[in-house]
Amino acid sequence: MTDTLRERFWERYPLAELNPQEWEALCDGCGRCCLLKLQDEDTDEMYYTRLACRELDIQACRCRHYADRATRVPGCLQVTPTVAAYDWLPATCAYRRLAHGETLASWHPLISGDPESVHRAGVSVRDQVISEEGIAEDDYEDHVVHWVN
Ligand code: SF4
Ligand code: SF4
Repeated sequence: MTDTLRERFWERYPLAELNPQEWEALCDGCGRCCLLKLQDEDTDEMYYTRLACRELDIQACRCRHYADRATRVPGCLQVTPTVAAYDWLPATCAYRRLAHGETLASWHPLISGDPESVHRAGVSVRDQVISEEGIAEDDYEDHVVHWVN
């Protein structure tokens, strides 16, 4: 990859003008977007569960098959500049924050310089979630959590 990270690019360029390397660097590695979500059919309100996608390495908070995630998990929605503005992403998500005109949080690895800071801040899903594997769909409701948003 020939692209490089331009100095404090997240403050200087809109999401649509980031190069691929900058785009990837924006992800804080929290893993929250990989939690199963439930939507209330009447109100459209969305609820996060503590059930992680089967492809998520919960300890690392990273997708095990990032390159072909869309084919392995058809429901996996890729974050793009347009999608980042949607409220389905967790409020802490760097893409959503920037799409809404906010800045990066102090625990974001681009600010702290340390990829572990997102875990230390308690923002990542590490140690807080379980895999969806083996959980019946009818039981998803029992796993709704309120610490995401
Ligand atoms: S919620 Fe946003 S910052 Fe966190 S892992 Fe997902 S895309 Fe990355
Ligand atoms: S396929 Fe990967 S990126 Fe997509 S939701 Fe699952 S763990 Fe997350």
